[in-house]
Amino acid sequence: MAGSGHAGSREWRPQTKLVRGGLDRTQHRETAEALYLTSGFVYDRAEDAEAAFKGDVQRYIYTRYGNPTVGAFEERLRLLEGAEFCSATSSGMSAVFTALTALLKAGDRVVASRALFGSCSYIISDFLPRYGVETVFVDGTDLAQWEKALSKPTQCVFLETPSNPTLEIIDLGRVAELTHAAGGKLVVDNVLATPMLQRPLEFGADIVVYSATKHIDGQGRALAGAILGPKSYYKDNLQPLLRHTGPACSPFNAWIMLKGLETMDIRVERHCRNAQEVAEFLEKQPGVKRVIYPGLKSHPQYELAKRQMKLPGSVLSFEIDGGKERAFRIQNAFEIIDISNNLGDTKSIVTHPATTTHQRLPEEERLRLGITAGLLRLSVGLEDVEDIKDDLAAALRA
Ligand SMILES: *Cc1c(COP(=O)(O)O)cnc(C)c1O
Repeated sequence: MAGSGHAGSREWRPQTKLVRGGLDRTQHRETAEALYLTSGFVYDRAEDAEAAFKGDVQRYIYTRYGNPTVGAFEERLRLLEGAEFCSATSSGMSAVFTALTALLKAGDRVVASRALFGSCSYIISDFLPRYGVETVFVDGTDLAQWEKALSKPTQCVFLETPSNPTLEIIDLGRVAELTHAAGGKLVVDNVLATPMLQRPLEFGADIVVYSATKHIDGQGRALAGAILGPKSYYKDNLQPLLRHTGPACSPFNAWIMLKGLETMDIRVERHCRNAQEVAEFLEKQPGVKRVIYPGLKSHPQYELAKRQMKLPGSVLSFEIDGGKERAFRIQNAFEIIDISNNLGDTKSIVTHPATTTHQRLPEEERLRLGITAGLLRLSVGLEDVEDIKDDLAAALRA
């Protein structure tokens, strides 16, 4: 069947799934995927509407519930990830929020790694406790802290690896074991790794979430997110929440993501090659105190990253002498690299986490995470790597 991930008895390889997975051509036999920009769907007879709402027939009812273009994106990503289901959402944050709240109720307990994307950290530290959920943070790289925190019954564990912006690597297999022993589900924010580089489900994770805004689009055009996991979780927990609270992905954005997936493999591979070269280059520059990139032997979890990830990713961070003032001077001197908080874009992007993505955190907490005034995060793009290096060298001299 077209787009099913198989050709006869042969399972497609990943790149073929990315190009053809979920493809379901209309009677016009268009080459590219059709964009169904519609909020609703019509019925020939009232009886058909009744049957659809009763669930006696499976068909599209309303785009908040499902849409053929959104469905094609979900199916393509599902095949790649090897999950039982995939649900697309309006943004990465709606994916994180819905995935967590679908699992939790008042009185439950969540354990999370401390080094998280700013908004994820807000959900765990500020939002969930308001609804009676106990939340505990641990240093994600310290297995002893996970063991201690997960010695009590826990419904949900949430982590991000590599983390943003300090690129800590967490041992997925071990944390999955501890989570299950505590009776919980492991939810992994796999954004920085991308679906190409790390497969959390293979290490025992239960649920994977993405901001498709990042490498899946990869061209800075639109927001979307995705939640992947087992069918039971979808049916019992997630589907009712998605339908009735409405974090639906727009068909237009899903179409952009669907087309983004087709080139994601080659984009991510080149991103990683450029990032590795830039990381090695920065390590040799005067005035650069340290470079954090999982592909460098100097990274504290270099070996773990090699075991867990196919390649070390597109994002690196580096710390310069001279604190905020010099960090700003360097950013302002870039001629190619843009100042912005996005990542995974074809364009190289720099951000100063302490004053942007993580400015909400108290300084003490920022320093505990290694987000110093001299730390810059660089999302390495697809420009010629020599131009990226030239831009960095000139800015570091400024
Ligand atoms: C960007 C990002 C998100 C949020 O995604 P949006 O699409 O911006 O809502 C969540 N987690 C990580 C790690 C991210 O980088």
